[in-house]
This record gives sequence, structure tokens and C-alpha cells, in this order.
Amino acid sequence: MSEAGALPPGVRFIERDWLSANHILLVDPDSTTMVDTGFVKHAPMTLALVEAALASDPPPSRRIGRIINTHLHSDHCGGNAAVRERHGCRITVPVASFASARDWNIDALTYRYTGQPCPRFPVDDALAPGEDFHAGGLRWVAHAAPGHDPESLVLFAPEAGLLISADALWANGFGILFPELQGESGFTEQRAVLGLIESLAPRRILPGHGPMFDDVAAAIERARGRLESMAADPQRHARHAMKVMIKYRLLYMESETIAGMRAELAGAGFLTDVARWIGMDTDAAIDWAVDALVESGQAVRDGERIANRG
Ligand SMILES: [Zn+2]
Repeated sequence: MSEAGALPPGVRFIERDWLSANHILLVDPDSTTMVDTGFVKHAPMTLALVEAALASDPPPSRRIGRIINTHLHSDHCGGNAAVRERHGCRITVPVASFASARDWNIDALTYRYTGQPCPRFPVDDALAPGEDFHAGGLRWVAHAAPGHDPESLVLFAPEAGLLISADALWANGFGILFPELQGESGFTEQRAVLGLIESLAPRRILPGHGPMFDDVAAAIERARGRLESMAADPQRHARHAMKVMIKYRLLYMESETIAGMRAELAGAGFLTDVARWIGMDTDAAIDWAVDALVESGQAVRDGERIANRG
């Protein structure tokens, strides 16, 4: 993968981790637009990172005037409430998610389904596929990016060749295709999204997780390989999803008992869906995922207690 060079002066990329999605700051003379705000647990760190990234900009640019969320998963909008409280910004969400967010329908927003917390935030406006906006000195066009999340957007700046790809394409893969776990279509949509990204021909990708990258063709090829192997064996996708979700839980819980995890996730539809896919009951599915994570060095078990590692 080639090393990414400098971004345009109005674009700042803050790489986070697997708990919090990356942030992209689009800096203008009168205020800054922030794309995605991370997971609630690390909201204080998010505020500090934003402040540091804008420290040498003129005072008006240091204020976040607008948040735009690519989608409303807990790791992408968990910092919305904190950023809004600090900066008094408006919040823009994908049009398909607007009503659910306005009414704070945690079923439609999938927070109950995934068992992941996200503090409520107000929404001010919606961004629709095909709409454009100016931020960071660039024109950005929103594109629908279903697959990982039917309501997700990716944001493309055609003149600069920059794509904010959310969880539709990372340097190495893409996000879980949640609709497939629920018996709906996701592989087909993800295939189309990879085709869309290829047709946009971005020169650089600012992904939702992991480093930014320029070798887009290679990333698309890796993603296609992974997608087709999962589409050919949906159980494999479900097993992968189960490990990802338990790892995610360990990232934010850090440590908990297996019994506690079972109790906390008892109401999460995700667990029921995945367990059905992999042919286990929900407790057995949790045990299986924990064992797999311990075996691959991503978790450690101490009696009844399981802790994150790495
Ligand atoms: Zn996501």
C-alpha cells in the first residue's frame, strides 16, 4: 500500500481505532464541519483530539459548526451529544435515518439490536444521496452506500478525488453486512457499493476505521475477495460478525464475566440472528466467540471473567 501524502489544507483526518470511528474535519474560515464523532466512551478524548487538530487555526475555525454523520452506528455518532454540547453545532444525518433519530427510535437505530449504547442527540437536517455541500474548501457529493447499513452515505469530493468511505470500504475489508444477518439482502448491495466506489475513481480514501490510503484498486480487490467468499458461505460471514461484535463489546467493557455478558446481550436481536446462522443457542454462540477470541490472542479468560486484549 502506498504511503498517503498530504491532504488539502482544509481537510484533517483523525485516525481512531475500532471502538471509535475516524473523524474528518473540514475546516472553513467561519467554522469547521466534523464527519463522524466516535463512540460515547471516548467522547472526552474526541473533544481533545478535535481541539488539538484545530489548535493552530483561527478562532472561528476552531468551532465545530456542523456534524455530518455517514451513518448512525454507535461508533460513528456516539460523540454527537458531547460535540454539540461543547460547540453548539447543528447535526446532519443521512435522510433515511432522520425520522428514527428525531424520534430516537432505538430499534430503528439498531442500538437495541446490537446491544450498544449511544447517547441521544437532536438532529437538525438531513443529507440525501445526490445532494452536495461545500466544506473544507471542497465540494462534496453524498452517495448512498447500503450493504453494511442500508441507510449509510459515503461522501465524495470529485475535484480533489477524496472519498469518505465510512464502513463501506477500509484498507482491508468493510463492515459487517448487518442486513444479511437479519435475512435481508446485503451482499448484493455491498457488491454494488464497491462498483460505485470504483466508478467514482477516488485518488484517496478516508475510511471509517484504519488508515487513509491511496491504493484504491488493491483495497477494492481485497474487499471483493472477502465479499465473494462470504457470499458463497453466509455462515462464515455470521461467524465473523459474531467475533467482531463480541470483540467490540470487550473493547468498551474492557472486562466482564461471561454471565454478565450473556445477561446484557440477552435482548440484542443481533445475538439471536447470528446464533441462528451458526446453529447454536445464544449462550453457546457467546462461548464460541469468546473461545475464538482467546485463541487468536484478542481476549484473555480468567475463570469466569473475560478481558479485552490488544
Ligand atoms: Zn457502521
